[in-house]
Amino acid sequence: MNSNEIDIHKELKKYFGFNQFKGLQEQVIKAILAKENTFVIMPTGGGKSLCYQLPALVQEGTAIVVSPLIALMKNQVDAIRSLSSENGIAHVLNSSLTKTEITQVKKDITSGLTKLLYVAPESLTKEEYVNFLQNVPISFVAIDEAHCISEWGHDFRPEYRNLKNIIKLLGDVPVIGLTATATPKVQEDILKNLDMSDATTFKASFNRPNLFYEVRTKTKNVESDIIRFIKQHKGKSGIIYCLSRKKVEAIAEVLQVNGISAVPYHAGLDAKTRAKHQDMFLMEDVEVVVATIAFGMGIDKPDVRFVIHHDIPKSLESYYQETGRGGRDGGEGHCLAYYSYKDVEKLEKFMSGKPVAEQEIGFALLQEVVAYAETSMSRRKFLLHYFGEEFDSETGDGADMDDNVRNPKTKVEAKDQVVK
Ligand code: ADP
Ligand code: MG
Repeated sequence: MNSNEIDIHKELKKYFGFNQFKGLQEQVIKAILAKENTFVIMPTGGGKSLCYQLPALVQEGTAIVVSPLIALMKNQVDAIRSLSSENGIAHVLNSSLTKTEITQVKKDITSGLTKLLYVAPESLTKEEYVNFLQNVPISFVAIDEAHCISEWGHDFRPEYRNLKNIIKLLGDVPVIGLTATATPKVQEDILKNLDMSDATTFKASFNRPNLFYEVRTKTKNVESDIIRFIKQHKGKSGIIYCLSRKKVEAIAEVLQVNGISAVPYHAGLDAKTRAKHQDMFLMEDVEVVVATIAFGMGIDKPDVRFVIHHDIPKSLESYYQETGRGGRDGGEGHCLAYYSYKDVEKLEKFMSGKPVAEQEIGFALLQEVVAYAETSMSRRKFLLHYFGEEFDSETGDGADMDDNVRNPKTKVEAKDQVVK
């Protein structure tokens, strides 16, 4: 079918049951159907998957989707299969498949049944798979979580660097890169490393107007300050992020002792306990989860009312992702970070054990966090500027939603604050 003849609204309803596109989806899909290289930058939850799933479903051939996490791929394949009567419509190709399963996958692709093939980047380097994919019609290659290609992103995967060469072996197929990382540096890296500087770029706004940003100086009273904050938000759900597992345990205990229902969450707990604590939070059996950054990926609780950082995050990118778990329903979302220069030094010391290149990047990212914490300007403007986005701190959406704008500091106060 010619791409001009496809009624994408009808297909949206037919496959996904949605009545309208979200944000930039329609424009992105049109670009993909026009065989353009396309670069999509949308915040988490923006609806990036549908941008490639719909074009894959309505076009000839198989779309290859590169994704870094096996669990994520499995979820997506299950979701696509539930939209169709044919199991073969979507497949995962990875190292866990048996010979028989691989034969079935190949058969479904060859017969034209498979519209979406999810692959891990390391599987795509396998000669056997590349040889096979060279000889079947490919509609396009989508690279999800494309920031994994950049050392400036929060999740660098060296295997992503090989993708460009493998895609070239597949012939002249359009490439779609997708990410929720909005920093200009990462974007440049993606376009360069995927060799797609000609890509049509679609970037959604990263502004979250209902989130209130606040930074407090971290003193020895930080725990009682947090307790007071939570008691002022009684009955509401919140997340407290700490740097170490030890701190997570300690804070959770202090909260419990003070009559606040809280559970810890970190990678040192066994899977069963982690799942239990996550469920307790989702089901509102507890108000607060105290966690390391291990908590939050894919958590979709709409009414998280506060996100507290007991320790500063290692980059503004992480800060944006972690605070982004607040106020998903559009309601209140208070983002409070405690800041002390001692914590910065701690992080620097921690990083000094890493390879030099990694260290340099780590320090540079951390300096941005320091600048954010110490600024007296609109925090929203600062954050959005970091993501390459202009924000008018007088008339923009959510303009008065931070401590600096609500209570402007005098110059002297602002200086005092950074003295340790
Ligand atoms: P991202 O990958 O950008 O983080 P997802 O692709 O996981 O986001 O989508 C987030 C959610 O938005 C999913 O629950 C999805 O079903 C929903 N969604 C996507 N497109 C639409 C739409 N057009 N209308 C309603 N919901 C949508
Ligand atoms: Mg996604």
